[in-house]
Amino acid sequence: MLEKRIVFATGNKDKMKEIRQILVELEQMGWELLSMKEAGLFAEIEENGRTFEENAIIKAKAVAELAAKSGMEAVVLADDSGLEVDYMDRQPGVLSARFLGESTSYSVKNKYILDRLAEAEGAERSARFVCVIAAVLPDGEVVTEKACVEGQIAYQEEGEGGFGYDPIFYLPEYKTTTAGLSPKEKNKISHRGKALRQMREKLKQRYEEGRA
Ligand code: IMP
Repeated sequence: MLEKRIVFATGNKDKMKEIRQILVELEQMGWELLSMKEAGLFAEIEENGRTFEENAIIKAKAVAELAAKSGMEAVVLADDSGLEVDYMDRQPGVLSARFLGESTSYSVKNKYILDRLAEAEGAERSARFVCVIAAVLPDGEVVTEKACVEGQIAYQEEGEGGFGYDPIFYLPEYKTTTAGLSPKEKNKISHRGKALRQMREKLKQRYEEGRA
C-alpha cells in the first residue's frame, strides 16, 4: 500500500495556508499534508523556466529528488503562479515574485502597475492570475494542472485580505479585488483554488489506481 503523504514544495506561509484550506478534504481522507519545512526538506531552487509549467515542474522534481534521497515516499506538489497584465505584454508573468526586485514591497509593485496603467481604460485593464500545479508521483510520473482567474487591474488598491497583487486585482462580478474577498470566497474562485481542486481529483483517481 502506498503511503498517503503529500509534500508541498513551497516556503511561502500564505500559500501553504491557502493550500491547506483547499486540500482539507484529502486530509480528512487520511492524507498527510506537509510543507517542505515540516517534511525536513530544504532547498534553494532556481526558478529559471520560461513558463509557469516549467517552473512548477522544476520545483516539484527538485523536492521529489530530496524526498527520495531521504527515503521518504510522497507525492510532491509544487505550484508556480503569477499575474499577467495584458497592457504590460503579460508582465510580470513568471517573474511576478521577482518583479522590481524580490525584496521590493508589494505596495511599491502595485503602485508601479497602477501608474503604468494610468491611461488604460475598461477592457485595456484586463489581467489574470495563473497557476500551474505540478505533481511528481512516487513512480516518477509528472502531471500538471493549470487554471486562471480573469479580472482587471483596479484603479486603486482595495481590500485588506490576501497577499501580493491581490489589492489591485479587481473582479467586476464581485465589485471588489481579491483582497476584498474572505479567504473562503477567494479559494472558491482563485487560480490556485481551481488548479488545486483539479489536482486533488487527479490524485484521488491515481490513488485508486494504486499509483499515488
Ligand atoms: P511563485 O511563488 O513563484 O509562484 O510566485 C508567485 C507570485 O505571484 C507571488 O509572489 C505573488 O507576487 C503573485 N501571486 C500569485 N498568486 C497570487 C495571489 O493569489 N494573489 C496575489 N498575488 C499572487
